[in-house]
Amino acid sequence: MNHINSCTSFNRVIVNLEALKQNYRFLQAQAPQAEMLAMIKADGYGHGMIECGHALAECGCSNFGVGELCEAVALRESGIKGQILVMLGFNERHVNHFIEYDLTPVIYDLQSAKMLSECCLQLDRAIGYHLKVDCGMSRLGIYPGQLEDFFQQAKQFKGVFCKGVLSHFARSDEQDPGHSRNSLALFEETVASVTVDEKLKLHIANSGGLLYYPESSLDIVRPGISLYGYYPDTFKARDDRAEGGLQPVMSFHSQVVQVKEVAAGQGISYGHTYVTDSPATIAVLPVGYEDGLSRRLSNRGAVLIHGKRAPIRGRICMNLTMVDVTHIPGVKAGDEVVIMGAQSDEKLSADDIGQWMETISYEVLCMFGNNNERQYL
Ligand SMILES: *Cc1c(COP(=O)(O)O)cnc(C)c1O
Repeated sequence: MNHINSCTSFNRVIVNLEALKQNYRFLQAQAPQAEMLAMIKADGYGHGMIECGHALAECGCSNFGVGELCEAVALRESGIKGQILVMLGFNERHVNHFIEYDLTPVIYDLQSAKMLSECCLQLDRAIGYHLKVDCGMSRLGIYPGQLEDFFQQAKQFKGVFCKGVLSHFARSDEQDPGHSRNSLALFEETVASVTVDEKLKLHIANSGGLLYYPESSLDIVRPGISLYGYYPDTFKARDDRAEGGLQPVMSFHSQVVQVKEVAAGQGISYGHTYVTDSPATIAVLPVGYEDGLSRRLSNRGAVLIHGKRAPIRGRICMNLTMVDVTHIPGVKAGDEVVIMGAQSDEKLSADDIGQWMETISYEVLCMFGNNNERQYL
């Protein structure tokens, strides 16, 4: 419900920009020699690309990463200075935007260098790019063995020059950095083996690399999820570390719209997938899968009311959900519901919800943040 009368929606996502800034400073302190490149793709993992971008710029951040060109243009038009990396490269119909808006493409083929060069010649300008190398992720990037040849061929394209080389870890969220160690070694050997005129900035570390494998920090680090307060794994062993460091930036709030007594043996919601075994008090919430509360949470998740967990009963509907408040006295219409965040001494994290949903915090944050009205603190 973020389109119409959004100011009257029952549901709202609160984004704490102070927490974001604190996370930024904590992460910078983990890799003091490296430049920070804040990943704010996917509308800042659901927290708002533009708001987060400006908050981070106030902390001194001058490198930003987005997915597509259109995101980068919006970010630049909002007044962000500094380098904006477009991680997915290339939208050939709008090559000139890279030059007009001073954006930095990540490229992974010669064809892109050629198109950039043609555009540079037309406009009489020059542009720098970052080149992506695939060191074991099997996602975007040229293979290490192709790097030498790439630079040889790229020399013919006037106006374009390489500013940096990057790769990406496939398994940096694991406690054992064995696989990351191999990727990093391959990356460093590969770059060392080529001779180029330019001074290249090297980067490979995402949040996992930055937090669990400090040797991988190199010239630039690219944290995403950790900026928003989450560790890339959900290991409980990390929790104590989190106390002094990262803190969640987003919380998600709703409210009770009706409370009703339900008799024993009564089915709840579509399909009656939950049947009460004794008389129950049920609170009805005006939130559902339209608002990012995935239908997978049917009969699985819980929310917080009066500081206590109220389990979800029956199927989650498009914009209604029923929860059990039999054990929570005095619940009434209008009471605050916390779907994610803290209430009294209880809290529910994106990791908790991700576990119930069989997904990761990243997806939970995108779903909640990008489907609801956001308020900024
Ligand atoms: C999304 C992304 C990151 C950030 O990853 P996190 O796990 O969120 O820290 C870094 N680098 C690239 C290329 C990415 O796509």
